[in-house]
Amino acid sequence: MKRNVYADHAATTALSDTALNAMLPYFQEKFGNPSSLYGFGQAAKADLDAARAEVAACLGAKPDEIFFTSGGTEADNWALRGVAEARGGKGRHIITSTIEHHAILHTLRYLEKYEGFQVTYLGVDSEGFVNPADVKAAIRPDTILISIMSANNEIGTIEPVTEIGAIAREAGVLFHTDAVQAVGHIPVNVDRWNVDLLSLSGHKFHGPRGVGVLYVRKPLRLPPLIHGGGQEKGRRSGTENVAGAVGLAAALKEAAAHLDGEGARLTALRDRLMDGLLSAVPRCKITGPRENRLPGTASLVFECVEGESILLRLDAMGIQSSSGSACSSASLDPSHVLLGIGLPHEIAHGSVRLSLGRENTGEDVDYMLKVIPEVIAGLRAMSPIWED
Ligand code: PLP
Repeated sequence: MKRNVYADHAATTALSDTALNAMLPYFQEKFGNPSSLYGFGQAAKADLDAARAEVAACLGAKPDEIFFTSGGTEADNWALRGVAEARGGKGRHIITSTIEHHAILHTLRYLEKYEGFQVTYLGVDSEGFVNPADVKAAIRPDTILISIMSANNEIGTIEPVTEIGAIAREAGVLFHTDAVQAVGHIPVNVDRWNVDLLSLSGHKFHGPRGVGVLYVRKPLRLPPLIHGGGQEKGRRSGTENVAGAVGLAAALKEAAAHLDGEGARLTALRDRLMDGLLSAVPRCKITGPRENRLPGTASLVFECVEGESILLRLDAMGIQSSSGSACSSASLDPSHVLLGIGLPHEIAHGSVRLSLGRENTGEDVDYMLKVIPEVIAGLRAMSPIWED
């Protein structure tokens, strides 16, 4: 029987009931502008600040280190461009990895092209890990920032952020981490991780889309990316998205409360899915590591088939998945992440990411284990390059 299985939680998630109910009053009854001085506006400001405090508590941060943004992309842009502007007089070298999200890579390309920065792109190993020793070796007297993601959106690798943070701190270099895929899924603590800046996004953990956070460790002050009416203590202008902030905070609190149990549940489902596919499908391989991997993210490559064709066939069978990151699937080039872990082009083309989440069950995994091998076999039967 055909089943609907949403297996693309790394792309986005459904708003949880808790987040929705927390948000609803702010669209009509409590629509006040937090900048208004009368009580109705100040009540909205108080609720916005309560959301800020909740987010801070979930990250081990202080409320005045939390700035709401329009999402993960803006938080990443602001972190990099803000540090470039604030510290560019001290040095113009930045360190990152080759497998970051495009919100990081394209911003750094911009800084190289238009602002005269030099960027070192560190390679990763075959499972996607950045080696902390490589980070240390890349630091120069003019290095002002290290930006390494907490967890990769395509292959689920959880980077050694604590070690990299310690190296950055010892060298007196600022450390930013794009934690968009990590927050709400694995424990995150800005002090344990030694981070100065951290980006997160509401829609990756059942919060609303179009709202994110940049954490900025005090006393660091970033110049604004968005100029205007001076909201968010002059750092990020624009009338505040109170409903979004309240929904993000409610979703984060909810995710944090179930982190261990849900993490263990998803890890078991993910491993059963990956192992089942490995044994049922010849010439396929897991991408990313076995350990230190995001709980819900399964990713594989299948030889002699196109990822896009697999996705379309799976969609017809009710399974929603992705080939690499959703943002890059408009392009026909293989994903930079899969090339970054050393896969040849022809293998990287056959990639599928199945990212499990809150609504997925064991029956969903059973269904995927039945359908996916059939889909791959069907595609291979039509392929002129496939030899069994
Ligand atoms: N960084 C990572 C690692 C992501 O996975 C994403 C979204 O896919 C982003 C940044 C961008 O976040 P947003 O969609 O909130 O702009």
